[in-house]
Amino acid sequence: MRIKMCYPVVLLLLFNTGALAQLGETKQKFTHGDTLRGSLNPNRTWWDVQRYDIRVKPDYATKTIEGTVRMKFTALASGRRMQIDLQQPLLIDGITLEATGPATPAKFEQQENVAIVDLDREVSKGETRVLSISYHGKPREAVRPPWDGGWIWKKDDKGRPWMSVACQGLGASVWYPCKDHQSDEPDQGATLTMIVPDTLMAVGNGRLIQSQKKDGLLINTWEVKNPINNYDIIPYIGKYTGFTDTFMGAKGKLDMGFWVLDYNLEKAREQFKQAKLMLRAFEYWMGPYPFYEDSYKLVDAPHLGMEHQSATAYGNRYLNGYTGRDLSGTGWGLKWDFIIVHESGHEWFGNSITSSDLADMWIHEGFTAYSETLFTDYYYGKEAGTDYNVGIRKNIRNDIPIIGPYGVNKEGSGDMYYKGSNMLHSIRHSINDDEKFRQILHGLSKAFYHQEVSTGQVERYISEKSGFDYGKIFDQYLRTTQIPELDFYKDSIAGTITCRWTHCVDGFDLPISLPSASQKIIPTGQWKTFAVPASALKNWNEGSITRLYYVTVKQLAAKP
Ligand SMILES: [Zn+2]
Repeated sequence: MRIKMCYPVVLLLLFNTGALAQLGETKQKFTHGDTLRGSLNPNRTWWDVQRYDIRVKPDYATKTIEGTVRMKFTALASGRRMQIDLQQPLLIDGITLEATGPATPAKFEQQENVAIVDLDREVSKGETRVLSISYHGKPREAVRPPWDGGWIWKKDDKGRPWMSVACQGLGASVWYPCKDHQSDEPDQGATLTMIVPDTLMAVGNGRLIQSQKKDGLLINTWEVKNPINNYDIIPYIGKYTGFTDTFMGAKGKLDMGFWVLDYNLEKAREQFKQAKLMLRAFEYWMGPYPFYEDSYKLVDAPHLGMEHQSATAYGNRYLNGYTGRDLSGTGWGLKWDFIIVHESGHEWFGNSITSSDLADMWIHEGFTAYSETLFTDYYYGKEAGTDYNVGIRKNIRNDIPIIGPYGVNKEGSGDMYYKGSNMLHSIRHSINDDEKFRQILHGLSKAFYHQEVSTGQVERYISEKSGFDYGKIFDQYLRTTQIPELDFYKDSIAGTITCRWTHCVDGFDLPISLPSASQKIIPTGQWKTFAVPASALKNWNEGSITRLYYVTVKQLAAKP
């Protein structure tokens, strides 16, 4: 979410138009720090992260943490200088390239939010090594998670410590040292070891592989075997209690785990039944759940929610809708729990398929926002799904393009949610073959399984598999803020529609399927006249078009 759910868009839209306006400022200035964070410079490209083993000990009283990260990496080229991200005011205590014999500490210089590290020896191309980094300090504290993130030091409703982190966009380097760029996930997964008072429980991503109590401390290690986004690796520490279930899914038995604060247990047993409904619908539409090895989990979170891989953060107050409200205004959004559906949808788009640059975040949010429509469609029918999709359109702002600037860790417009979803709805109906559309979603899940991708790759895949070049349609919706307009003249006597696209990029040619007919027409920027069957002509009107396509329509009284 970042509505930015997952990013903050939804909330910003609903409550904080001021902040959104800032988001929409056109001339942004980017700093050297933005470039260091958001671009792949030579100190980052010669090595590829294989695994993170993170060990962290938080101190609730002083709001400080201390930890170590063992980062396994493979040299794609020989190199010696590395950029390690760790955000101020956290301090690195030492960095060592682990060796079988005595290891010499590496030299490093910490500036702003990065450390430039000079290893004590060159790592040769093809070599896999472990860099060990110890650090401590007072991490940036979350102001308004999940949107304005950082470490969360909270009390639960009974006044007991409750800790977690929300850092999408902000970056995982707000609490642990890493290569903080979305393009490089640890291919062999990660472990998170949390050292906490033994009166609390510590939950992480994936599966609990080790747990021990000693000297008043609980030391829990959780592991994911699959690649994972840095910002998805998250500690949850508090008075948790758990229960489990299983789902017989497309790839067999999926373990499900639910970790909630003790006083939420009964509510959770009821509300979290929706997780199975979600899995059923999403496996139908988008393919197998992408992380069977790591299980599926929902975890009570001290914020609204976030797509933390195999440990989805849940904070929707055990209500349907978006904290009890329907973002679509149609009633359909109150039939299900927005956070269970939306955040879990990210397991397919966001966690399995990740955009390599934050600028392309619509790949996460557009598809996931559309998964809400698909969920509604699966349980309540196609018309209900369409109602929902049309309903969320009112949240579109068309302030700035959906795709943001590349190389500076900056996402584009919050329209990536609702407009992204409506673009996909338009494409689906222009294909006019739901089975083909479903196979395209399955195909994306398979072709880009556990990968980082660009917008271009996704665009080309959809065009290739649908058999139609959607390049201009993507340009229109992702790279401009214009809503295309279909101007038409209906000649009932001649049985024709004369139409053209305006308010659009050159070459925009979104196909329109004819109502109550299997045919489609392909209007362009020039006037064209199409013969249309009588039944389709009869049902051709503004509503029948705008319901299925995110466009405006103008009917002309005379033939142009
Ligand atoms: Zn999201």
